[in-house]
Amino acid sequence: MNGSEGGGPEPGAGAPGPWPGEPESFQEMWRGLAPLGLDRGSGGYRRYAWSGADAECREWFRAQAESRGLVHEVDRNGNQWAWHGDPRAGDAVVTGSHLDSVPDGGAFDGPLGVVSSFAALDELRRRGAEFVRPFAVVNFGDEEGARFGLACVGSRLAAGQLTVEDAHRLRDGNGVPLPRAMEAAGYDPDAIGPDPERLARIGAFVELHVEQGRALDLSGDPVGVASAIWPHGRWRFDFRGEANHAGTTRLADRRDPMLPYAETVLAARREAELAGGLATFGKIAVEPNGVNAIPSLVRGWLDSRAADQGTLDAVVSGVERAAREHAERAGIDLDVVRESFTPVVDFQHALRDEIRRVLEKRGRGGADTGGRAVPVLGTGAGHDAGILSASVPTAMLFVRNPTGISHSPAEHAAEDDCVAGVRALADVLEGLACS
Ligand SMILES: [Zn+2]
Repeated sequence: MNGSEGGGPEPGAGAPGPWPGEPESFQEMWRGLAPLGLDRGSGGYRRYAWSGADAECREWFRAQAESRGLVHEVDRNGNQWAWHGDPRAGDAVVTGSHLDSVPDGGAFDGPLGVVSSFAALDELRRRGAEFVRPFAVVNFGDEEGARFGLACVGSRLAAGQLTVEDAHRLRDGNGVPLPRAMEAAGYDPDAIGPDPERLARIGAFVELHVEQGRALDLSGDPVGVASAIWPHGRWRFDFRGEANHAGTTRLADRRDPMLPYAETVLAARREAELAGGLATFGKIAVEPNGVNAIPSLVRGWLDSRAADQGTLDAVVSGVERAAREHAERAGIDLDVVRESFTPVVDFQHALRDEIRRVLEKRGRGGADTGGRAVPVLGTGAGHDAGILSASVPTAMLFVRNPTGISHSPAEHAAEDDCVAGVRALADVLEGLACS
């Protein structure tokens, strides 16, 4: 299923109509996606890479592309593209996001960007806009990393930020290697790898995403523009003590790694508050993991993020210092390993300023607030846009999330705000891609 599908796009761009059929409205697209990968028990989505639910989402994307007369294509890393105009002409304007989810994720993280991209194209057609640059909607594969533990695999591979060897070594929770999973879904795992030619054809990438925080809710704006993705990383803390009987070992005789671990969790909160960053121990593994056994090993994973590198360094070194002090006092061995790290992503200033100018001029991004400044926000969440920004001028739009909750079934955006997001995206795309 890799490689170009269909007869190949017509050279040139021009007006994007007429469509082969009447394309679905935003609401119809939303309803079409709603049941795919939904777990009735939890009410959350389980759209994992190369699963049956993933295949259904990909089929949905293909149908949306074809109903709009766009040329559907799957690249060798499993990312889906829907083209208007000839990509070979270069300097293309691309928009989109992802359709996969975290375990029991919400409906908006990812799909809002893809649905809004198709809806924005429909809006441009209604406006009679003429495209002067090639245009595409994209669905990046395996953005959340829910199955293989590494986020943004599709965009990382394309951008050369993940080697083929490392990708081939990824395994899911059941021990299924990534190549086997791709094969089972009908894709060729030997075709994956850097795709510089494809990225070189993109002149601008804009990703619309539901906000994963409450900045827009607090400022009273439906839509904002991203300034940067915070530097972030994961660190593994291994506390090693001595397993023993919970009922017969005197407190004074114990080497219990749970105690310094617990102190470290508290220190993480304290250090994050002090420095103004974020620190979370959200995952833990205990050996032997028996209710009546003193642990021999407590392994905790620290996720830390901050607006700048100095703050992040201050948080992580503060947590590590506290962990070492408490481990030493309790006679516990400690290893700290940095498992992943992503430096700050500063979105291209020229593109960001152009987007702000377009939105503020039209007064649409700010819910017709008439010239009111469009908020510019940093974010602590990673995105495909962050990966692509190393190779392509990239920008992001955020749509207000009234609770700020995401990666949960409670994730939400009001319909009016989704409509404002589509209009803002259409304005931006019109400014970038149309005469
Ligand atoms: Zn996302």
